[in-house]
Amino acid sequence: MKNISMKSGVFFFLFFLLSLNMKTYGFTLSNEGRVSFPSSDVGILIASNTCSTAGFNSPYELQDMVRKSISAYWNKIPTCALELEVEAVVSTDTSNMTLLETLQNTPVGKILVGCSSNTDTFDEAGVLGVGSINTASGDRGAFLINDADTSFANLDDQEKLATIAHELGHAFGLGHSGDPAALMYYAVGGKVQKNLSIDDYDACSYLYPHDSPVGCGSIALIDSDHDSFGGSSGELSPLRKEASVKDSLFLSLILGIMLSLLVGFKFRLN
Ligand SMILES: [Zn+2]
Repeated sequence: MKNISMKSGVFFFLFFLLSLNMKTYGFTLSNEGRVSFPSSDVGILIASNTCSTAGFNSPYELQDMVRKSISAYWNKIPTCALELEVEAVVSTDTSNMTLLETLQNTPVGKILVGCSSNTDTFDEAGVLGVGSINTASGDRGAFLINDADTSFANLDDQEKLATIAHELGHAFGLGHSGDPAALMYYAVGGKVQKNLSIDDYDACSYLYPHDSPVGCGSIALIDSDHDSFGGSSGELSPLRKEASVKDSLFLSLILGIMLSLLVGFKFRLN
């Protein structure tokens, strides 16, 4: 019996350590700290030069890929108000620009996307892209795909979309994440994370929270026949309902796993 409680103690201690460890991972913000676009509707412009080394035959191919990337990644987070929209190909040539020069050529409030073979910016082989936000003279974001070598061209389509989404993350205000599952994770080996993680959801929602719906004054008083949990004002929105169901399923799963492990310990030790 003593042995069982000791083993359970060890199990809980390990579980506790694991949960502590998980909390040390997390998103970071840009080098400037918490900076974001004042409006959550942000337009994306595409530079006019062709990025042939990076595998694009025209700026319109890059435009299509950026469109696919935003709808597969950042625009689908329900808790994040950010709404990216690809607007147009503009007559800006980024083919030899640094990231700073690209930012200086970006209209205020927009993100400019292009490619460059500038060797100061892409000074080592294998770098896929660079991106940043700058608020020095109005909020602008930009990212450049490496057109100095074929690193980007050699990715598969899913990796290309994820790389664009990662650099867009920098362009709207995110830094790297310590969570290896996150899209914003930085891996030295150049491995591309292909999916958004909860950490990316949190990061986007932190920088671009949804506004609180309306002031309290405009909500109708609850009818005296209803108790405080009934009626429209007390009901969860469909979105919250879905989240609550998912949360409880997740909690039940964790509890189930813990219980079966404990029961397993007991039977084995008996
Ligand atoms: Zn990065």
